[in-house]
Amino acid sequence: MAMNKIQFQAGLSLHEFLHQYGTEAQCEAALFAARWPHGWRCLRCDAERYSCTHNGRKLWECLGCGYQCSSIVGTVFENTKLPLRTWFLAIYLMTQSKNAVSA
Ligand SMILES: [Zn+2]
Repeated sequence: MAMNKIQFQAGLSLHEFLHQYGTEAQCEAALFAARWPHGWRCLRCDAERYSCTHNGRKLWECLGCGYQCSSIVGTVFENTKLPLRTWFLAIYLMTQSKNAVSA
């Protein structure tokens, strides 16, 4: 049976995790980088030009069609009322624990 490299990679300590994803801005930046690794693109018209505003969460507005979206639109985090850092911490605890914390 082939060895899964992901399964045997070194874990991230809680201290390192909080250093990398401890703030809302860090979590949003990580989500943005995962969604748009080559820069923001409009979900409707695929334009690259945008303006940025804040409405509790960072919003990108397309300068081509006027469509507004945040980094959580179209993800599992869409419609959440909780901060992203809470979800990131929950995901960290679920994936790093070996003591059935998911139960
Ligand atoms: Zn657009």
